[in-house]
Amino acid sequence: MYYVSTRNKKLEFTPAQAISQGLSRDGGLFLPAALPRLPGNALESLKEMSYQQRAVYVMGLYLTHFTTSELTAYTSRAYGPDKFDTKEVAPVRRVDENTYCLELWHGPTCAFKDMALQMLPHLLTASMRKNYDHRPVCILVATSGDTGKAAMEGFRDVDKTKILVFYPKDGVSEVQGLQMRTQEGDNVGVCSVVGNFDDAQTGVKRLFSDEGLREELAEKGLFLSSANSINWGRVLPQIVYYISAYCDLLKQGAISNGDAINVCVPTGNFGNILAAYYAREMGVPIRRLICASNDNNVLTDFLTTGTYNKNRPFYNTVSPSMDILISSNLERLIFALSGNDDERTRGYMEQLTETGCYTVDEDIRKKIQAVFSAGYTTEAATKETIGKLWKEHKYLIDTHTAVAFHVLEQYRAETGDETPTVVASTASPFKFPDAVLEAIGVEELSSGAGLLDQLSQVTGAEIPRPLAGLRDKKVRFDGWVQKEQMKAVVTGFLK
Ligand SMILES: *Cc1c(COP(=O)(O)O)cnc(C)c1O
Repeated sequence: MYYVSTRNKKLEFTPAQAISQGLSRDGGLFLPAALPRLPGNALESLKEMSYQQRAVYVMGLYLTHFTTSELTAYTSRAYGPDKFDTKEVAPVRRVDENTYCLELWHGPTCAFKDMALQMLPHLLTASMRKNYDHRPVCILVATSGDTGKAAMEGFRDVDKTKILVFYPKDGVSEVQGLQMRTQEGDNVGVCSVVGNFDDAQTGVKRLFSDEGLREELAEKGLFLSSANSINWGRVLPQIVYYISAYCDLLKQGAISNGDAINVCVPTGNFGNILAAYYAREMGVPIRRLICASNDNNVLTDFLTTGTYNKNRPFYNTVSPSMDILISSNLERLIFALSGNDDERTRGYMEQLTETGCYTVDEDIRKKIQAVFSAGYTTEAATKETIGKLWKEHKYLIDTHTAVAFHVLEQYRAETGDETPTVVASTASPFKFPDAVLEAIGVEELSSGAGLLDQLSQVTGAEIPRPLAGLRDKKVRFDGWVQKEQMKAVVTGFLK
Protein backbone atom coordinates (compact mmCIF):
# COMPACT_ATOMS: atom_id res chain seq x y z
CA MET A 1 0.00 0.00 0.00
CA TYR A 2 1.21 3.47 -0.86
CA TYR A 3 0.53 6.84 0.68
CA VAL A 4 -0.12 10.17 -1.00
CA SER A 5 -0.46 13.77 0.14
CA THR A 6 -3.87 15.45 0.35
CA ARG A 7 -2.40 18.24 -1.82
CA ASN A 8 -0.64 16.14 -4.46
CA LYS A 9 -1.59 12.54 -5.12
CA LYS A 10 0.89 12.00 -7.93
CA LEU A 11 3.84 11.19 -5.67
CA GLU A 12 3.74 7.87 -3.83
CA PHE A 13 5.30 7.20 -0.43
CA THR A 14 5.85 4.03 1.55
CA PRO A 15 4.22 3.83 5.01
CA ALA A 16 7.67 4.35 6.57
CA GLN A 17 8.28 7.50 4.52
CA ALA A 18 4.87 8.91 5.41
CA ILE A 19 5.38 8.29 9.13
CA SER A 20 8.92 9.62 9.38
CA GLN A 21 8.18 12.77 7.33
CA GLY A 22 4.98 13.48 9.27
CA LEU A 23 3.86 16.37 7.11
CA SER A 24 4.25 16.36 3.33
CA ARG A 25 6.60 19.00 1.83
CA ASP A 26 3.65 20.52 -0.07
CA GLY A 27 1.96 21.22 3.27
CA GLY A 28 -0.54 18.37 2.83
CA LEU A 29 -1.20 15.38 5.07
CA PHE A 30 -0.33 11.79 4.19
CA LEU A 31 -3.00 9.14 3.79
CA PRO A 32 -3.38 5.79 2.05
CA ALA A 33 -3.99 6.14 -1.71
CA ALA A 34 -6.93 3.73 -1.20
CA LEU A 35 -8.44 2.56 2.10
CA PRO A 36 -8.42 -1.17 2.86
CA ARG A 37 -11.77 -2.94 3.43
CA LEU A 38 -12.37 -5.48 6.17
CA PRO A 39 -13.12 -8.90 4.67
CA GLY A 40 -16.67 -10.18 5.35
CA ASN A 41 -15.81 -12.41 8.31
CA ALA A 42 -13.21 -10.11 9.90
CA LEU A 43 -15.37 -8.69 12.71
CA GLU A 44 -16.44 -12.19 13.80
CA SER A 45 -12.84 -13.37 14.00
CA LEU A 46 -11.56 -10.16 15.61
CA LYS A 47 -14.26 -10.58 18.27
CA GLU A 48 -12.36 -13.49 19.79
CA MET A 49 -9.02 -11.68 19.87
CA SER A 50 -7.25 -9.58 22.48
CA TYR A 51 -6.92 -5.82 21.94
CA GLN A 52 -3.27 -6.28 20.97
CA GLN A 53 -4.15 -8.92 18.36
CA ARG A 54 -6.89 -6.72 16.93
CA ALA A 55 -4.34 -3.90 16.63
CA VAL A 56 -1.87 -6.13 14.78
CA TYR A 57 -4.58 -7.16 12.32
CA VAL A 58 -5.93 -3.67 11.63
CA MET A 59 -2.56 -1.90 11.47
CA GLY A 60 -1.25 -4.68 9.24
CA LEU A 61 -3.81 -3.75 6.59
CA TYR A 62 -2.25 -0.29 6.39
CA LEU A 63 1.41 -0.95 7.12
CA THR A 64 2.17 -3.35 4.31
CA HIS A 65 5.93 -2.85 4.63
CA PHE A 66 5.91 -4.00 8.26
CA THR A 67 5.91 -7.68 9.25
CA THR A 68 3.37 -9.30 11.57
CA SER A 69 6.10 -10.10 14.05
CA GLU A 70 7.19 -6.45 14.12
CA LEU A 71 3.65 -5.28 14.75
CA THR A 72 3.15 -7.97 17.39
CA ALA A 73 6.20 -6.73 19.26
CA TYR A 74 5.03 -3.09 19.11
CA THR A 75 1.48 -3.77 20.25
CA SER A 76 2.56 -5.92 23.15
CA ARG A 77 4.97 -3.22 24.33
CA ALA A 78 2.61 -0.28 23.68
CA TYR A 79 -0.51 -1.82 25.23
CA GLY A 80 1.01 -4.15 27.84
CA PRO A 81 -0.01 -4.44 31.52
CA ASP A 82 2.87 -2.17 32.59
CA LYS A 83 1.32 0.63 30.52
CA PHE A 84 -2.45 0.11 30.74
CA ASP A 85 -4.32 -0.52 33.97
CA THR A 86 -6.87 -2.85 32.37
CA LYS A 87 -6.33 -5.98 30.33
CA GLU A 88 -8.99 -4.83 27.87
CA VAL A 89 -6.90 -1.69 27.11
CA ALA A 90 -9.92 0.24 25.72
CA PRO A 91 -12.97 -1.21 27.52
CA VAL A 92 -16.58 -0.54 26.50
CA ARG A 93 -18.88 0.16 29.47
CA ARG A 94 -22.66 0.09 29.28
CA VAL A 95 -24.16 3.32 30.63
CA ASP A 96 -27.84 2.73 29.82
CA GLU A 97 -30.12 0.79 27.44
CA ASN A 98 -28.47 2.03 24.24
CA THR A 99 -25.51 4.13 25.35
CA TYR A 100 -22.00 2.76 25.73
CA CYS A 101 -18.81 4.47 26.75
CA LEU A 102 -15.49 3.59 25.10
CA GLU A 103 -12.92 4.37 27.81
CA LEU A 104 -9.74 5.50 26.12
CA TRP A 105 -7.89 6.75 29.18
CA HIS A 106 -6.48 3.65 30.87
CA GLY A 107 -2.92 4.36 29.69
CA PRO A 108 0.07 5.94 31.45
CA THR A 109 -1.11 9.57 31.23
CA CYS A 110 -4.87 9.00 31.67
CA ALA A 111 -5.93 10.62 28.37
CA PHE A 112 -6.80 9.07 25.01
CA LYS A 113 -3.61 10.46 23.46
CA ASP A 114 -1.84 7.42 24.96
CA MET A 115 -3.64 5.11 22.52
CA ALA A 116 -1.61 6.63 19.69
CA LEU A 117 1.45 8.00 21.47
CA GLN A 118 2.36 4.67 23.06
CA MET A 119 2.51 3.28 19.51
CA LEU A 120 4.09 6.19 17.60
CA PRO A 121 7.66 5.80 18.97
CA HIS A 122 7.75 2.19 17.74
CA LEU A 123 6.39 3.15 14.34
CA LEU A 124 8.69 6.16 14.01
CA THR A 125 11.95 4.48 15.01
CA ALA A 126 11.13 1.45 12.82
CA SER A 127 10.30 3.79 9.94
CA MET A 128 13.68 5.51 10.26
CA ARG A 129 15.39 2.10 10.09
CA LYS A 130 13.32 1.05 7.08
CA ASN A 131 14.40 4.25 5.32
CA TYR A 132 18.06 3.42 6.14
CA ASP A 133 18.18 6.68 8.07
CA HIS A 134 20.25 6.23 11.19
CA ARG A 135 20.13 9.76 12.54
CA PRO A 136 18.81 10.24 16.07
CA VAL A 137 15.38 11.92 16.09
CA CYS A 138 14.69 15.13 17.95
CA ILE A 139 11.00 15.76 18.64
CA LEU A 140 9.61 19.18 19.44
CA VAL A 141 6.05 19.50 20.77
CA ALA A 142 3.79 22.38 21.71
CA THR A 143 0.98 21.17 23.92
CA SER A 144 -2.20 22.45 25.49
CA GLY A 145 -1.84 19.72 28.10
CA ASP A 146 -2.50 16.12 27.13
CA THR A 147 -0.34 15.66 24.04
CA GLY A 148 2.95 16.79 25.57
CA LYS A 149 2.71 14.48 28.55
CA ALA A 150 1.57 11.51 26.47
CA ALA A 151 4.33 12.12 23.90
CA MET A 152 7.03 12.24 26.61
CA GLU A 153 5.69 9.11 28.26
CA GLY A 154 5.75 7.36 24.86
CA PHE A 155 9.24 8.49 23.89
CA ARG A 156 10.94 8.44 27.29
CA ASP A 157 14.19 6.49 27.16
CA VAL A 158 13.47 5.32 23.61
CA ASP A 159 16.84 4.74 21.99
CA LYS A 160 18.01 7.42 19.51
CA THR A 161 15.26 9.87 20.34
CA LYS A 162 15.08 13.10 22.31
CA ILE A 163 11.91 15.00 23.09
CA LEU A 164 11.37 18.59 24.20
CA VAL A 165 7.93 19.90 25.18
CA PHE A 166 6.73 23.49 25.47
CA TYR A 167 3.49 24.28 27.29
CA PRO A 168 1.73 27.58 28.07
CA LYS A 169 2.67 28.66 31.59
CA ASP A 170 -0.87 29.46 32.65
CA GLY A 171 -2.78 27.41 30.10
CA VAL A 172 -2.82 23.88 31.53
CA SER A 173 -4.70 22.36 34.44
CA GLU A 174 -2.92 21.93 37.77
CA VAL A 175 -2.71 18.16 37.35
CA GLN A 176 -1.52 18.46 33.75
CA GLY A 177 1.25 20.88 34.79
CA LEU A 178 2.38 18.63 37.62
CA GLN A 179 2.43 15.62 35.30
CA MET A 180 4.81 17.41 32.96
CA ARG A 181 7.11 19.01 35.53
CA THR A 182 7.76 15.63 37.13
CA GLN A 183 8.35 13.74 33.87
CA GLU A 184 11.01 11.03 34.11
CA GLY A 185 13.44 9.85 31.45
CA ASP A 186 16.97 10.79 30.36
CA ASN A 187 15.97 12.04 26.91
CA VAL A 188 13.17 14.44 27.87
CA GLY A 189 12.96 18.18 28.43
CA VAL A 190 10.06 20.41 29.46
CA CYS A 191 9.76 24.17 29.50
CA SER A 192 6.81 26.47 29.97
CA VAL A 193 6.30 29.56 27.85
CA VAL A 194 4.80 32.82 29.05
CA GLY A 195 1.54 33.24 27.14
CA ASN A 196 -1.25 31.01 25.89
CA PHE A 197 -1.27 27.86 23.78
CA ASP A 198 -1.13 29.86 20.56
CA ASP A 199 2.11 31.49 21.71
CA ALA A 200 3.70 28.12 22.44
CA GLN A 201 2.40 26.66 19.19
CA THR A 202 3.52 29.60 17.05
CA GLY A 203 6.92 29.46 18.76
CA VAL A 204 7.37 25.79 17.90
CA LYS A 205 6.23 26.33 14.31
CA ARG A 206 8.82 29.09 14.04
CA LEU A 207 11.51 26.69 15.28
CA PHE A 208 10.54 24.20 12.59
CA SER A 209 11.03 26.78 9.85
CA ASP A 210 14.19 28.30 11.35
CA GLU A 211 16.96 27.65 8.80
CA GLY A 212 19.74 28.39 11.29
CA LEU A 213 18.40 25.84 13.76
CA ARG A 214 17.94 23.28 10.99
CA GLU A 215 21.59 23.68 9.98
CA GLU A 216 22.73 23.40 13.56
CA LEU A 217 20.74 20.18 13.95
CA ALA A 218 22.06 18.85 10.63
CA GLU A 219 25.62 19.46 11.81
CA LYS A 220 24.88 17.45 14.92
CA GLY A 221 23.42 14.73 12.67
CA LEU A 222 19.91 15.06 14.12
CA PHE A 223 16.56 14.57 12.38
CA LEU A 224 13.88 17.04 13.44
CA SER A 225 10.38 15.63 13.85
CA SER A 226 7.06 16.26 15.55
CA ALA A 227 4.54 14.11 17.43
CA ASN A 228 1.63 16.24 16.28
CA SER A 229 -1.73 14.60 15.59
CA ILE A 230 -1.41 15.11 11.84
CA ASN A 231 1.16 12.28 11.65
CA TRP A 232 -0.41 9.17 10.08
CA GLY A 233 1.30 7.18 12.85
CA ARG A 234 -1.10 8.83 15.29
CA VAL A 235 -4.30 8.41 13.28
CA LEU A 236 -3.80 4.72 12.52
CA PRO A 237 -3.72 3.34 16.10
CA GLN A 238 -6.99 5.22 16.73
CA ILE A 239 -8.85 3.34 13.97
CA VAL A 240 -8.21 0.14 15.93
CA TYR A 241 -10.32 1.05 18.95
CA TYR A 242 -13.47 1.79 16.99
CA ILE A 243 -13.25 -1.61 15.34
CA SER A 244 -12.46 -3.12 18.72
CA ALA A 245 -15.49 -1.40 20.29
CA TYR A 246 -17.82 -2.92 17.70
CA CYS A 247 -16.33 -6.35 18.43
CA ASP A 248 -16.81 -5.84 22.16
CA LEU A 249 -20.47 -4.94 21.64
CA LEU A 250 -20.86 -8.14 19.62
CA LYS A 251 -19.15 -10.11 22.35
CA GLN A 252 -21.31 -8.57 25.08
CA GLY A 253 -24.39 -9.53 23.04
CA ALA A 254 -25.46 -5.89 22.88
CA ILE A 255 -25.74 -6.10 19.07
CA SER A 256 -25.70 -8.79 16.38
CA ASN A 257 -23.22 -8.76 13.52
CA GLY A 258 -24.34 -6.24 10.91
CA ASP A 259 -26.38 -4.10 13.35
CA ALA A 260 -25.69 -0.40 12.99
CA ILE A 261 -24.24 1.74 15.76
CA ASN A 262 -23.60 5.48 16.06
CA VAL A 263 -20.41 6.98 17.40
CA CYS A 264 -20.19 10.29 19.28
CA VAL A 265 -16.76 11.93 19.73
CA PRO A 266 -15.60 15.03 21.65
CA THR A 267 -13.58 16.75 18.97
CA GLY A 268 -10.71 19.25 18.72
CA ASN A 269 -8.21 18.64 15.95
CA PHE A 270 -10.58 16.15 14.23
CA GLY A 271 -8.12 13.25 14.66
CA ASN A 272 -10.21 11.01 16.88
CA ILE A 273 -13.45 11.28 14.91
CA LEU A 274 -11.56 10.93 11.63
CA ALA A 275 -10.37 7.53 12.84
CA ALA A 276 -14.02 6.56 13.40
CA TYR A 277 -14.80 7.70 9.85
CA TYR A 278 -12.03 5.42 8.53
CA ALA A 279 -13.40 2.49 10.56
CA ARG A 280 -16.78 3.13 8.91
CA GLU A 281 -15.20 3.28 5.45
CA MET A 282 -13.47 -0.04 6.16
CA GLY A 283 -16.86 -1.64 6.66
CA VAL A 284 -17.77 -1.33 10.35
CA PRO A 285 -21.57 -0.76 10.41
CA ILE A 286 -21.48 2.78 11.79
CA ARG A 287 -24.57 4.75 10.79
CA ARG A 288 -23.81 8.26 11.98
CA LEU A 289 -20.76 10.03 13.35
CA ILE A 290 -21.72 12.68 15.86
CA CYS A 291 -19.13 15.43 16.25
CA ALA A 292 -19.23 17.19 19.63
CA SER A 293 -17.63 20.59 20.26
CA ASN A 294 -17.45 23.01 23.19
CA ASP A 295 -17.98 26.78 22.85
CA ASN A 296 -15.25 26.78 20.19
CA ASN A 297 -17.84 25.39 17.79
CA VAL A 298 -16.19 25.99 14.43
CA LEU A 299 -16.77 22.34 13.48
CA THR A 300 -20.46 22.41 14.38
CA ASP A 301 -20.91 25.25 11.93
CA PHE A 302 -18.79 23.65 9.24
CA LEU A 303 -20.48 20.25 9.36
CA THR A 304 -23.97 21.78 9.31
CA THR A 305 -23.41 24.58 6.73
CA GLY A 306 -20.33 23.66 4.66
CA THR A 307 -18.57 26.89 5.60
CA TYR A 308 -15.45 26.79 7.74
CA ASN A 309 -14.72 30.13 9.37
CA LYS A 310 -12.00 30.46 11.98
CA ASN A 311 -12.48 34.23 12.25
CA ARG A 312 -14.31 34.15 15.56
CA PRO A 313 -13.57 34.61 19.25
CA PHE A 314 -11.48 31.98 21.03
CA TYR A 315 -12.82 30.69 24.35
CA ASN A 316 -10.88 29.06 27.18
CA THR A 317 -13.18 26.31 28.46
CA VAL A 318 -13.22 23.53 31.07
CA SER A 319 -12.48 21.13 28.20
CA PRO A 320 -9.15 22.75 27.20
CA SER A 321 -7.98 19.96 24.89
CA MET A 322 -10.81 20.93 22.52
CA ASP A 323 -10.08 24.65 22.54
CA ILE A 324 -9.03 24.76 18.91
CA LEU A 325 -10.06 26.88 15.93
CA ILE A 326 -8.08 25.12 13.21
CA SER A 327 -8.86 21.42 13.09
CA SER A 328 -5.92 20.19 11.01
CA ASN A 329 -7.15 16.66 10.37
CA LEU A 330 -10.29 17.90 8.65
CA GLU A 331 -8.16 18.20 5.53
CA ARG A 332 -8.09 14.40 5.27
CA LEU A 333 -11.90 14.20 5.37
CA ILE A 334 -12.25 16.84 2.69
CA PHE A 335 -9.80 15.00 0.46
CA ALA A 336 -11.84 11.78 0.84
CA LEU A 337 -15.25 13.40 0.33
CA SER A 338 -14.09 15.37 -2.71
CA GLY A 339 -13.30 12.01 -4.34
CA ASN A 340 -9.55 12.25 -3.59
CA ASP A 341 -9.44 15.59 -5.40
CA ASP A 342 -6.04 16.98 -4.41
CA GLU A 343 -6.49 20.23 -6.35
CA ARG A 344 -9.78 21.13 -4.70
CA THR A 345 -8.40 20.20 -1.27
CA ARG A 346 -5.33 22.38 -1.83
CA GLY A 347 -7.57 25.23 -2.94
CA TYR A 348 -9.69 25.14 0.23
CA MET A 349 -6.62 24.98 2.45
CA GLU A 350 -5.02 27.93 0.66
CA GLN A 351 -8.20 29.92 1.22
CA LEU A 352 -8.08 28.96 4.89
CA THR A 353 -4.51 30.23 5.19
CA GLU A 354 -5.24 33.43 3.29
CA THR A 355 -8.67 34.40 4.59
CA GLY A 356 -9.38 32.07 7.50
CA CYS A 357 -12.49 30.85 5.72
CA TYR A 358 -13.72 28.55 2.92
CA THR A 359 -16.96 26.96 1.73
CA VAL A 360 -16.96 23.46 0.27
CA ASP A 361 -18.89 22.60 -2.91
CA GLU A 362 -22.41 21.23 -2.75
CA ASP A 363 -21.34 17.62 -3.49
CA ILE A 364 -18.99 17.60 -0.50
CA ARG A 365 -21.54 19.22 1.79
CA LYS A 366 -24.12 16.58 0.88
CA LYS A 367 -21.69 13.77 1.58
CA ILE A 368 -20.78 15.30 4.94
CA GLN A 369 -24.42 15.51 5.94
CA ALA A 370 -25.12 11.93 4.91
CA VAL A 371 -22.65 10.74 7.55
CA PHE A 372 -22.02 13.44 10.15
CA SER A 373 -24.17 15.18 12.73
CA ALA A 374 -22.75 17.92 14.90
CA GLY A 375 -23.51 19.91 18.00
CA TYR A 376 -21.87 21.81 20.81
CA THR A 377 -22.12 22.09 24.58
CA THR A 378 -21.88 25.22 26.72
CA GLU A 379 -19.81 25.41 29.88
CA ALA A 380 -22.87 25.21 32.12
CA ALA A 381 -24.28 22.21 30.26
CA THR A 382 -20.89 20.45 30.45
CA LYS A 383 -20.96 20.59 34.24
CA GLU A 384 -24.64 19.70 34.47
CA THR A 385 -23.99 16.61 32.35
CA ILE A 386 -21.20 15.42 34.66
CA GLY A 387 -23.53 15.88 37.63
CA LYS A 388 -26.41 14.11 35.91
CA LEU A 389 -24.44 11.06 34.82
CA TRP A 390 -23.03 10.74 38.30
CA LYS A 391 -26.40 11.08 39.97
CA GLU A 392 -28.37 8.84 37.62
CA HIS A 393 -25.83 6.18 36.71
CA LYS A 394 -23.02 6.52 39.28
CA TYR A 395 -20.78 6.96 36.25
CA LEU A 396 -18.06 9.57 36.57
CA ILE A 397 -16.86 11.35 33.42
CA ASP A 398 -14.43 14.15 32.66
CA THR A 399 -15.27 17.52 31.08
CA HIS A 400 -14.42 16.50 27.48
CA THR A 401 -16.49 13.34 27.63
CA ALA A 402 -19.34 15.38 29.11
CA VAL A 403 -19.37 17.60 26.02
CA ALA A 404 -20.03 14.48 23.95
CA PHE A 405 -22.74 13.09 26.24
CA HIS A 406 -24.64 16.34 26.10
CA VAL A 407 -24.40 16.64 22.33
CA LEU A 408 -25.69 13.07 22.07
CA GLU A 409 -28.64 13.95 24.28
CA GLN A 410 -29.49 16.93 22.04
CA TYR A 411 -29.08 14.79 18.91
CA ARG A 412 -31.49 12.18 20.25
CA ALA A 413 -34.04 14.78 21.26
CA GLU A 414 -33.93 16.34 17.80
CA THR A 415 -33.89 13.18 15.68
CA GLY A 416 -35.47 10.45 17.78
CA ASP A 417 -32.62 8.22 16.58
CA GLU A 418 -32.19 5.53 19.26
CA THR A 419 -29.44 3.56 17.49
CA PRO A 420 -27.03 2.11 20.09
CA THR A 421 -24.31 4.69 20.45
CA VAL A 422 -20.68 4.51 21.52
CA VAL A 423 -19.41 7.69 23.18
CA ALA A 424 -15.64 8.14 23.11
CA SER A 425 -14.43 8.93 26.62
CA THR A 426 -11.17 10.81 26.18
CA ALA A 427 -9.81 11.52 29.65
CA SER A 428 -10.00 10.24 33.20
CA PRO A 429 -12.13 12.50 35.42
CA PHE A 430 -9.11 12.66 37.74
CA LYS A 431 -7.27 14.76 35.16
CA PHE A 432 -9.71 17.62 35.73
CA PRO A 433 -10.64 17.06 39.39
CA ASP A 434 -11.59 20.65 40.23
CA ALA A 435 -14.15 21.01 37.43
CA VAL A 436 -15.52 17.52 38.11
CA LEU A 437 -15.83 18.14 41.87
CA GLU A 438 -17.73 21.36 41.23
CA ALA A 439 -19.96 19.60 38.74
CA ILE A 440 -21.00 16.96 41.27
CA GLY A 441 -21.83 19.64 43.80
CA VAL A 442 -18.74 19.96 46.02
CA GLU A 443 -18.27 23.57 47.11
CA GLU A 444 -15.09 23.66 49.19
CA LEU A 445 -12.25 22.56 46.95
CA SER A 446 -8.85 21.36 48.10
CA SER A 447 -5.78 22.21 45.97
CA GLY A 448 -2.93 20.53 44.04
CA ALA A 449 -2.73 16.77 44.54
CA GLY A 450 -5.24 17.12 47.38
CA LEU A 451 -7.95 17.50 44.73
CA LEU A 452 -7.32 13.91 43.69
CA ASP A 453 -7.92 12.59 47.22
CA GLN A 454 -10.99 14.72 47.52
CA LEU A 455 -12.50 13.40 44.28
CA SER A 456 -11.69 9.86 45.35
CA GLN A 457 -13.24 10.31 48.79
CA VAL A 458 -16.41 11.92 47.50
CA THR A 459 -17.04 9.38 44.73
CA GLY A 460 -15.38 6.22 46.03
CA ALA A 461 -13.53 5.96 42.72
CA GLU A 462 -9.89 4.97 42.85
CA ILE A 463 -7.23 7.49 41.77
CA PRO A 464 -5.51 6.11 38.64
CA ARG A 465 -2.07 4.84 39.56
CA PRO A 466 -0.06 7.30 37.40
CA LEU A 467 -1.83 10.26 39.02
CA ALA A 468 -1.74 8.87 42.56
CA GLY A 469 2.05 8.68 42.29
CA LEU A 470 2.37 12.36 41.37
CA ARG A 471 2.73 13.76 44.87
CA ASP A 472 5.85 11.73 45.62
CA LYS A 473 7.57 12.65 42.40
CA LYS A 474 10.36 15.17 42.22
CA VAL A 475 9.78 18.30 40.16
CA ARG A 476 12.50 18.11 37.51
CA PHE A 477 11.50 20.95 35.22
CA ASP A 478 10.25 24.22 36.59
CA GLY A 479 11.82 26.58 34.04
CA TRP A 480 9.90 29.09 31.98
CA VAL A 481 10.87 31.42 29.16
CA GLN A 482 9.49 34.24 27.05
CA LYS A 483 8.48 32.96 23.64
CA GLU A 484 11.40 34.77 21.98
CA GLN A 485 13.81 32.58 23.97
CA MET A 486 12.56 29.18 22.86
CA LYS A 487 15.38 28.63 20.39
CA ALA A 488 17.97 28.98 23.13
CA VAL A 489 16.11 26.32 25.10
CA VAL A 490 16.37 23.92 22.17
CA THR A 491 20.08 24.60 21.72
CA GLY A 492 20.70 24.10 25.42
CA PHE A 493 18.66 20.89 25.44
CA LEU A 494 20.67 19.38 22.59
CA LYS A 495 24.11 20.11 24.08
C1 LIG B 1 -6.93 15.82 22.36
C2 LIG B 1 -8.18 15.62 23.13
C3 LIG B 1 -9.45 15.73 22.52
C4 LIG B 1 -9.62 16.12 21.06
O1 LIG B 1 -9.22 15.09 20.18
P1 LIG B 1 -8.95 15.40 18.64
O2 LIG B 1 -8.37 14.16 18.08
O3 LIG B 1 -7.98 16.56 18.62
O4 LIG B 1 -10.25 15.77 18.02
C5 LIG B 1 -10.56 15.48 23.30
N1 LIG B 1 -10.45 15.16 24.61
C6 LIG B 1 -9.25 15.06 25.23
C7 LIG B 1 -9.22 14.73 26.68
C8 LIG B 1 -8.06 15.27 24.51
O5 LIG B 1 -6.88 15.17 25.14
